[in-house]
Amino acid sequence: MPLSTDLHNSTILHDSTMSIGKSDRCWFDSHCHFDFDVFDKNRDEQWLLLKEYGCAGLIIPGVTAKQWPRLISLCADKPWGYSLGLHPYFIEQHQEGDLNKLDNACAEQLELPAEESNLVAVGEFGLDFMLASSGHTQQVELCRQQLLIAKKYNLPVILHIRKAYDEVAAMIRSIGFTEGGIVHAFSGSYQQGMVFIGLGFKLGIGGAMSHSRANKLRATITRLPLDGLVLETDAPDMLPAFWQGPHNSPLSILFLAQIVASLHRCDLNQVLLSSNRNLLGILPKFKH
Ligand SMILES: [Zn+2]
Repeated sequence: MPLSTDLHNSTILHDSTMSIGKSDRCWFDSHCHFDFDVFDKNRDEQWLLLKEYGCAGLIIPGVTAKQWPRLISLCADKPWGYSLGLHPYFIEQHQEGDLNKLDNACAEQLELPAEESNLVAVGEFGLDFMLASSGHTQQVELCRQQLLIAKKYNLPVILHIRKAYDEVAAMIRSIGFTEGGIVHAFSGSYQQGMVFIGLGFKLGIGGAMSHSRANKLRATITRLPLDGLVLETDAPDMLPAFWQGPHNSPLSILFLAQIVASLHRCDLNQVLLSSNRNLLGILPKFKH
C-alpha cells in the first residue's frame, strides 16, 4: 500500500486504497510513546494532523522514573492521558528507590485538582520473558510491587507481557487485583485473551496483526469479542507491515481499525466506536 509516515504529505492518505481521509471520525491511540525523542522535531505539527484525521486523544505510558516528569509536562493542556510505571525493558536503569517514587508520584497526582492531572493508570510494567532470563526474578518482583501500588490507589494498569501471560494472570489473582486495565500489544492465545478479559482487562491490538506471518494472531483476534479490544499503535515502535517510514505513527490506528473490521466482518466505524467505548470505560480518569 502506498503509505508513508511523511505526515506533511497527507494527500497520500487520500490516495490509499482504503480511502481513509480527513473526517469527523473520532478515535484514540490507547498506547503510544508520543513523548519519545523521535517526535521532538515536529510533535505539535503531527498532533495537529492527527486531530484533522479525527484523533481525540492519546494514552502515553511511563517507562522509567527519569522520564515521568517530562511526560507529565508534555501532556499538560492536551487530551493526552499518561500512566507512570517501570518497564521491564529498562530493568538496568531502574534504581532502588524507584518504586517509592512511583508510590509518591501516584499519591501526588491523585491529590491534584482533577483538571491538573491526567494520570490514568500505573504502567507500563509487566513481565517480558523474551528478555534474558537472568533478570526474570527481578522482573517478577518489580511487576508484583507495581500491581500492589495500583491496587493501593485503585488505579487500572497498563501491562507489557511477552511469553508470560499465565504468570501475570496468576499474579493478578493472587494479589486480588480487580481494577483491570489494558494488556498492551496482546499476542497470546484465545484462551489467554479470554482469561484477561475475565479479569476485567481489555486487550491492546496493533501492528503485529498486520504482518503476513501473523496468521495465528489474526485468527485469535477474529474470535475475540470486540468488547474486549482497544486499538493501539505503540508508535514509534511496532511498525505495521503496510507503514513505510522511519517510525510508526498514531495515524496508523485508522488502518489497524480497518484490519480488525475486515477480520470481524463489520464496519470500520463500529470498530472505532467499540474501541473508544472500551478505552474510556477501562481508563475512567482519562480526560480527553
Ligand atoms: Zn509501550
